Amino acid sequence: MKADVDLTQTSTQRRITRPTAWKLALLAGFVTQLLLIVLVTTFGLRQLGMTTDKLNAVVDVHMRKQNLTKDMVIAARERTLVMFMLTKIEDPFDRDELLMQFNNKGSVFVTARQALMNMPLNQREQNLIARQGHLVRYAQPIQEQVIDLISRGAIRDAEDLVLSKVIPAQNNVMEVLSQLDTETQQVALAASSEARKAHEAARLWMYSLSGAALLVGLFVAAVVFYFTSRISRERELLATQDVLTNLPNRRLFLDRLEQAIVRAQRRKTLVGLMFIDLDRFKLINDTLGHTSGDMLIREVAERLRQVARAEDTVARLGGDEFVVIISDTAEISHIIRVAEKMLDVITQPYRLAGREVFCSCSIGITVYPNDGETSTSLLKHADTAMYHAKQHGRNRFQLYDKAMNAMAEERLQLETDLHYALERNEFVFHYQPKLNLESGRIQSLEALIRWRHPEKGLLSPAAFLQILEESGVIVSVGSALMKVACSQAADWHAAGFPDLRVAINVSGKEFWNEDLVQTVKSALSHSGLPARALQLELTEGIFMEDMEAAINRTHELKALGITIAIDDFGTGFSSLAHLKRFPLDVLKVDRYFVKDIQYAPVNAAIFNSILALCKGLGLGIIAEGVETREQLETLRELGCQNVQGYFISRPVPAEEIIPLLERDWSQALAVPA
Ligand code: C2E
Ligand code: CA
Ligand code: CA
Repeated sequence: MKADVDLTQTSTQRRITRPTAWKLALLAGFVTQLLLIVLVTTFGLRQLGMTTDKLNAVVDVHMRKQNLTKDMVIAARERTLVMFMLTKIEDPFDRDELLMQFNNKGSVFVTARQALMNMPLNQREQNLIARQGHLVRYAQPIQEQVIDLISRGAIRDAEDLVLSKVIPAQNNVMEVLSQLDTETQQVALAASSEARKAHEAARLWMYSLSGAALLVGLFVAAVVFYFTSRISRERELLATQDVLTNLPNRRLFLDRLEQAIVRAQRRKTLVGLMFIDLDRFKLINDTLGHTSGDMLIREVAERLRQVARAEDTVARLGGDEFVVIISDTAEISHIIRVAEKMLDVITQPYRLAGREVFCSCSIGITVYPNDGETSTSLLKHADTAMYHAKQHGRNRFQLYDKAMNAMAEERLQLETDLHYALERNEFVFHYQPKLNLESGRIQSLEALIRWRHPEKGLLSPAAFLQILEESGVIVSVGSALMKVACSQAADWHAAGFPDLRVAINVSGKEFWNEDLVQTVKSALSHSGLPARALQLELTEGIFMEDMEAAINRTHELKALGITIAIDDFGTGFSSLAHLKRFPLDVLKVDRYFVKDIQYAPVNAAIFNSILALCKGLGLGIIAEGVETREQLETLRELGCQNVQGYFISRPVPAEEIIPLLERDWSQALAVPA
């Protein structure tokens, strides 16, 4: 299952890493925003600089104009005052001095006026200056007349003239100058308001550009927020969802289970928990491939989901394990009905890779609060119950029972004990005869493992073989026991039974172990047992796992000279058509077909066809599990000459074998008269 989980994970990772497009958009957004900000800054600064320059210029011109106007006003006023003073002073030196001042003021006035005329002037200013010039030209001769009167000593006349003409003329000039001052001021005001307007426009531009930058920034932030939240949502989903089936995963399941428990506690209801494990999923996965395995898992998920109510939770724990929470229910019978429905839908045929495939499942059920108060204990106990369902024949459900816990603990203890069993030499073989009815002799013995447990006594494989296989310890145990069985058989050969064979069971784990051929070889050479006296019993399942490899390996084994039997024949999945390809010597027909052979015509018919098949393929045949005389007689009548079963002998320790080998079984089994 790992491979497919990886596969789907890569596709989700792809989903997460894909948004390079939005990353690009984001980058573009950032760049735009940056450009806008740069634009705002440069444009804004430039515009501000320009308006400031303009304002400065306006202020500057205005100030200069005002100063010049003021200079003119002062000069004119002082000139008039000096003129008036001239009419009051008698000392000729003082007068000369004042005259010089009078002329000075005149040139100050003229210079200022000239400077003003060189300044940028509007029409009104120009008109005013022209008018002022006109007035000056009118006043000029009067002033000259005053100076003339003074120099001639006509002071009184001069004084009269000043008062009657010069001062009013001067007032007119002042009037015009004051108008000029006002005008200059207005021009300055207009210019500054214009500059302010430009400033205002620049500010507006800056506002709108920064607004745009802000909007872009907001947009970028929104995009970032959207995508990051989407990614985190996806992550969240990934963290709570099983990628193959889209069902909740273990995490979400545990969360829901806890919620269900809390609700049930409050409402005084029950919570049912089902632990579902597919039967023989590994076989399907190995035979049909991982893709089909995945398809099956998905289909199972879908069927479970359909059976469950909307308020129930179906989750996948991983592999072929599912769990179902039946929340808020009042009766256990409801939970059982759901379990029955689930068993039913799972056993409906599946179409995988163009083939019809059958599958079943085992369900363990726990109920809150009866079987556990916490999610952990409920799950653990459901798992235990499921394990029991498997043990009791699969395709069934099993309600948890407290006794199971003890069993689970016992299993744990067994696992620990098994760890030491090999080195403590606690494993032995018991041997069960295979009888040939024609000769009335035991031709072969099947070696069957037993564990002499220090406390529990002699244990059958049912109690420990699965654990041995799951842990892989079976490989070393099997190879050690193979040596023992070969030596034992060599001893029996030496004791006068040179045709005796010994058959050893080989599980899948042992078969696929690369040392198998070497193990067999060394067991044979070590014991001196001829290879023809050794038979390995394999199950159909081994061939189904990887047919080509299994056939090759079997050829390798057969090249050593040993023979191969197919065990439990008829219970596996292999089709009879494949049988031809397997390099076999013997078919061991499963005891299922022997059980009712004397009553069930179907079984007899099946047996008959298997016999015909063996004849056709040149294979030997033996019936397993013969428990009664009736079975034996029926088999004999059908033409099956080799039998094995409790009716002949149970598996017995090696020490008890010789008497069985010596016995004449034709007589022993003769129908008493
Ligand atoms: P199997 O190979 O089918 O062995 C036959 C089983 O049926 C044996 O059970 C045997 O005791 C039992 N049996 C024999 N005659 C009868 C009968 O008349 N009626 C009934 N009901 N049962 C009968 P056992 O010894 O418990 O072994 C169980 C299985 O364990 C074997 O089934 C075999 O698959 C496996 N096994 C036994 N020994 C070994 C071993 O050394 N290595 C491996 N890999 N597997 C082993
Ligand atoms: Ca066997
Ligand atoms: Ca068997």
